[in-house]
Amino acid sequence: MDIKNGFVATVGNTPLIRLKSFSEETGCEILGKAEFLNPGGSVKDRAALYIIEDAEKKGLLKPGGTVVEGTAGNTGIGLAHICNAKGYKCLIIIPETQSQEKIDTLRTLGAEVRLVPAVPYKNPNNYVKVSGRVAAEMENSIWANQFENLANRNAHYETTGAEIWAQTEGKVDGWVAATGTGGTYAGVSMYLKDQNPKVRCVVADPMGSGLYSYVKTGEIKSSGNSITEGIGNSRITGNMEGAPIDDAIQIDDQECVRVIYQLLNQEGLFMGGSVGINVGAAVALAKQMGPGHTIVTVLCDGGGRYQSRLYNPEWLASKGLAI
Ligand code: PMP
Repeated sequence: MDIKNGFVATVGNTPLIRLKSFSEETGCEILGKAEFLNPGGSVKDRAALYIIEDAEKKGLLKPGGTVVEGTAGNTGIGLAHICNAKGYKCLIIIPETQSQEKIDTLRTLGAEVRLVPAVPYKNPNNYVKVSGRVAAEMENSIWANQFENLANRNAHYETTGAEIWAQTEGKVDGWVAATGTGGTYAGVSMYLKDQNPKVRCVVADPMGSGLYSYVKTGEIKSSGNSITEGIGNSRITGNMEGAPIDDAIQIDDQECVRVIYQLLNQEGLFMGGSVGINVGAAVALAKQMGPGHTIVTVLCDGGGRYQSRLYNPEWLASKGLAI
């Protein structure tokens, strides 16, 4: 019999999907790690599980306790599922600019949701800082602290990275991913470099995020906005510290939209916005490296979470973007 013991046992071991049209276009193997197939619907299920189980092992999270987190949505959704499955409460602080679909899902899952204005990290009312204060003041609670908590990138070192290496039988030349906390990028980069230091590890960055300039010039210059959610940063998080970075590739919103519609129409994959940045950057990396290489990236979450935005022609037009 092949039976999974509940939600927790179902996280990870996602397929690695060959993206046919992008592979043909570049003469490379462009492969997407299908993280949208996790039981909570995103790459963040892995980090959520490792963070909760790490706190359990350390005796920090006790029965009936509350998991508090500041999140753009997907980590909160992963945490809320796991809290339900394990009998904890969940309190999520989320910037009010995130998609209604993610906020509604969190509420349906029974998480207490507090919306806060979207202000930069240096502002004390930033969602991450609010979540830290709320957790500190609440009895029998933990702060998941996904940006600094290294259980996040350990999840990707031990599972996502190891799975990619095994699934490609070590035939991976390039790895590229956008970063939010950096857990996915850092954990996978560290695992792949430990197996083969020649694997080229590249940060994908949306416009407005500061990591591209950081990699290119050593200076973090962030400005403006992107239509993507959950990625881009104006600081080096604890999870990104020490991660190997060979280069960075910047992808703009129009290219992101073009890529997600190509995924939809030619690959049959209905994907979120960060996937447009990731696959767009994988194609750019393939063009830099030349035909015959294998490039892996992440398919972070599905398009349903962004139906009212990325898949709404009027919303796209309001942002000056064409399908
Ligand atoms: N894509 C989406 C849709 C996300 O929600 C996130 C997490 N915020 C990421 C990518 C980036 O993942 P990580 O936090 O591991 O850098």
